[in-house]
Amino acid sequence: MIKGSTRKRTYRAIYRLLDRVSPVPFDCGLICGAACCIAAEQNEELGIFLLPGEDKIHERDADWLSWGKLSTDEYEFPPSWHGDVFFVRCKTPPHCPREMRPIQCRSFPLAPHLTPDGELMLIYNDSDLPYCCPMIEDETELDPDFVQATYTVWKHLIRDPLIYEMVKMQSDNREEDG
Ligand code: SF4
Ligand code: SF4
Repeated sequence: MIKGSTRKRTYRAIYRLLDRVSPVPFDCGLICGAACCIAAEQNEELGIFLLPGEDKIHERDADWLSWGKLSTDEYEFPPSWHGDVFFVRCKTPPHCPREMRPIQCRSFPLAPHLTPDGELMLIYNDSDLPYCCPMIEDETELDPDFVQATYTVWKHLIRDPLIYEMVKMQSDNREEDG
């Protein structure tokens, strides 16, 4: 299993920081039927990949998650990523213990992006998603505290070379696609 340099206590601190913020001051799931959580029920390929070491703060026998692995050889990961990564799926979406949501959920609808000059910025998530997120579609103005906390978290996370390379690879792909 792939191992990054981000420690368990760092993930704990990140989760605590992000526990205090939300993208918008209302339950956005009410406007779309929680599309981002529910979509995985109909599509086995959808799930949440955990960042290197993020699994350390999750219980393997938690009743709300099922655990799987993705081989970094079979999917598009940076060349420095060797082995498997954890790929989890929620058993009862959109219900989950809020304080245990993975970073992938907590960052949405934003995503980290590195400019060609190496500057970190946040953009609306532009992954090819099989559902529509109204917040991305409308580029809804997000709570500044959420944006600031998410930026701070990613600024810290990319100190981990593996995470940096993942963000860099995704950013370079975007720049190439124009
Ligand atoms: S993040 Fe987007 S898709 Fe997910 S619940 Fe909110 S509005 Fe819906
Ligand atoms: S962990 Fe929670 S927020 Fe994330 S997909 Fe599962 S149900 Fe949705």
